[in-house]
Amino acid sequence: MKVAVPKEIGPGERRVALTPDAASTLVKSGLVVLVEKGAGAGAFHSDAAFEAAGARIVADAAALYGQADVVLKVQKPTIAEVDLLRQGTVLVSFLQALTSPDLVQRLAARGITSFGMEGIPRISRAQKMDALSSQANIAGYKSVLIAAESLPKFFPMLMTAAGTVFAARVLVIGAGVAGLQAIATARRLGAQVWGYDVRPAVKEQIHSLGARCLDFDLGLKDTEDKGGYARALSEEASRRQQQMLGEKTREFDVVITTALVPGRAAPRLVTKQTVAAMRPGSVIIDLAAEAGGNCELTVPDSVVVEHGVTIHGPTNLPATMPAHASQLYARNVTEFLREFVKDGALLLNFEDEIVAGTCVTHNGDVVSEAVKAALTGATS
Ligand code: NAD
Repeated sequence: MKVAVPKEIGPGERRVALTPDAASTLVKSGLVVLVEKGAGAGAFHSDAAFEAAGARIVADAAALYGQADVVLKVQKPTIAEVDLLRQGTVLVSFLQALTSPDLVQRLAARGITSFGMEGIPRISRAQKMDALSSQANIAGYKSVLIAAESLPKFFPMLMTAAGTVFAARVLVIGAGVAGLQAIATARRLGAQVWGYDVRPAVKEQIHSLGARCLDFDLGLKDTEDKGGYARALSEEASRRQQQMLGEKTREFDVVITTALVPGRAAPRLVTKQTVAAMRPGSVIIDLAAEAGGNCELTVPDSVVVEHGVTIHGPTNLPATMPAHASQLYARNVTEFLREFVKDGALLLNFEDEIVAGTCVTHNGDVVSEAVKAALTGATS
């Protein structure tokens, strides 16, 4: 079975789906690994390093896709990339399937067996495949570095001969994987940190990182679905949340927002009125920018200054740390493959929770119930 790794073509994308170490693991397990020329360059892995690991270098994408049995990618493929795949090819990649109806339909029409890494269930057996977590962890860490660089103040408290400076006050909204890493990183830099999430279960995790919880009662029950993700709030609850957050947010030097609800636009948590009430010089890092932003004034992949507040809307921070991002993602996809490839063939059991969570298209059909429901919503 030939496992192929193309060069990522998304703008600014520097990650690669397999590192030489991960390629070597697959080669040792009897698979043939093909890597497109230059695919690892953005993450500082040379073609020679892949060859030393037992992979073969292929000159271009068309030649690579044309002989692949399995394709490993980071970013969801473009339609043009899908059209290079042979019928029956297995594709393992982030697909953002819930919000990419055109891509899903094309994958089905071309007879591709596709797996979306965003669908790995959050269960113990799948932890080593959890690519959302491995990449969100990086985004959370990097968001704090950007905030610290952008803030016209120190993060830690300092007592110097020239006077005392107080520690920066940081609020992290959304305490999932990215948010908890942001809290931990801001604490390491010496800031005073608060966390907030709509799911009450995370309070203990926020406290365990030495941060405080921003606590207000929206009077809601059932804020978490059975997968552990937040549910979308009603319009009324969302308005109350914006108002309560608005009253608190102005007290902070840095606000890092990470709130997401799978398959939906990001919840709007920081309104333009809230930004206007913040102190000039304050900084917002909106990690939900790609899903529409938690802050009303966010512009994706841009830095804007409004009312003296600097608002960053990065959409792909993992790509800015391509060495570790690729290392961790490569482990995630390698473990995924090892789970389902036995004696050089892919064995799919649709009763398996991991297959059911990740498989989007198979044999010409859309097989994921969640994606089918999203597609119906998108076309009705
Ligand atoms: P996510 O990226 O979907 O969302 C980020 C955070 O935003 C979440 O904590 C969510 O509750 C919060 N959020 C959503 N709407 C909000 C709102 N209106 N106001 C405030 N906060 C809001 O989340 P994630 O990081 O992918 O984590 C999702 C779940 O999966 C969590 O329960 C997490 O603990 C769990 N998880 C489990 C494992 C595992 O056991 N293997 C691994 C990783 C994550």
